[in-house]
Amino acid sequence: MAIASEFRAVFRCFHGCPGEYPLDDILYTCPMCGGLLEVYHDPAPLRRISADVWKQRFEARMARGPFPYFSGVWCHKEWVLPAVDDANIVSLGEGRNPLVPAPQLSRQFGVAQVWLKLCGNSATGSFKDLGMTVLVSQVNQMRANGTPIRAVACASTGDTSAALAAYCAAAGIPAVVLLPENKISAAQLLQPLAHGALTLALQTDFDGCMAVVKELTRRPEIYLANSMNSLRIEGQKTIAFEIAGQLGWQVPDWVAVPGGNLGNVSAIGKGFEMLHDLGLIDRLPRLICAQAERANPLYESYLRGFDAFEPKPAQPTLASAIQIGNPVSVHKAIRTLQRFNGAVEQASEEELAHAMAQADRAGLFVCPHTGVALAAVEKLARRGEIRPEDSVVVISTAHGLKFPETKQRYHSQELAGITPRLANQPISITASVDAVLQAVEERALMKK
Ligand SMILES: *Cc1c(COP(=O)(O)O)cnc(C)c1O
Ligand SMILES: [Zn+2]
Repeated sequence: MAIASEFRAVFRCFHGCPGEYPLDDILYTCPMCGGLLEVYHDPAPLRRISADVWKQRFEARMARGPFPYFSGVWCHKEWVLPAVDDANIVSLGEGRNPLVPAPQLSRQFGVAQVWLKLCGNSATGSFKDLGMTVLVSQVNQMRANGTPIRAVACASTGDTSAALAAYCAAAGIPAVVLLPENKISAAQLLQPLAHGALTLALQTDFDGCMAVVKELTRRPEIYLANSMNSLRIEGQKTIAFEIAGQLGWQVPDWVAVPGGNLGNVSAIGKGFEMLHDLGLIDRLPRLICAQAERANPLYESYLRGFDAFEPKPAQPTLASAIQIGNPVSVHKAIRTLQRFNGAVEQASEEELAHAMAQADRAGLFVCPHTGVALAAVEKLARRGEIRPEDSVVVISTAHGLKFPETKQRYHSQELAGITPRLANQPISITASVDAVLQAVEERALMKK
């Protein structure tokens, strides 16, 4: 597409070392300091188009959506990956996620507005699709141009591997996924298997898988798909673009997101910063990163004013996708939270399970990680950090249907140490109208 060619994006060191590298380079960290890279967009050509024209352009694509604009990521192509050929884009229609008002949760939390951004309503059921379409499209283009990449690999707590496997299957590229054995849900294990990925269950935790995949992908023929690869961040930052667009180019007071490896909170921050720099929004929201108490290294650092960061082994948690003790994107996340006057809050197993059940009772069907974010919002609201007049967008990171075991164990009261205040069980009755009416009566009495 001719329109994209005037825009320029390159890798730069996140920590500020000099040097720029083409996005076609196989490079995940800065050759000078070893820190993470970020995709830098030359602002000059982006600024030549006014904020109003950008808004109209994005809205028109959202409304009409021919390929590749039927995707919420590729609607914003010039801001994401301008140099990819449309022919090389691998999309499963990611993004365009509903922003759903949750009035019952607003009342329960005592804040003016709570919305859920349902990023789990997507091809593989989590927000990981947003970043994976960008990364796999870039690999597809490099392979088309003759770069000898044999496979794409990732370590995963479940959702990254599902997304990688699906997008690689769509593109016809071999995928290799490294999973911590027995630490992910059955649905999450099934997804890469169904998509034909080489699926390896390692006898370690996520941090152990991450160490192996980093070493493995030092070979240029195996490309790294974890979020330390900054291409993923470019897709995930469109969460911010969509939220602003859905609110008529306004921002909420707060955006809350569960954090594990901490790529997503950095991505959402980057998205809002771009919107602000290019004049599409006139203020920034405050960000909340929510961690499980059992995997809370960022929370502990936050309590010390981010002075120091200490990785620590993560303990088993119902929020399995964020059971990470040594987050790769911690420095990006800390900088983001500092720029956004952000907060970090944690949730216990009991708190996250209750928040999940509460949201389900409001007609949503959220994953345990979204439960962590909801519990964090409730705690900050109770302490008055979130004020009664504030508006909050909670990022729902995966679909609840990916975690049926957790919900099943909650409702059958099998979660050790957790009192399931909202448990609901099937009632066995005889097949008669009278028995049904009696059950209805009893439920009505219970509600009084
Ligand atoms: C990956 C994931 C997270 C955490 O995102 P990070 O970028 O690793 O912080 C949260 N929730 C779900 C469902 C995930 O799959
Ligand atoms: Zn550097």
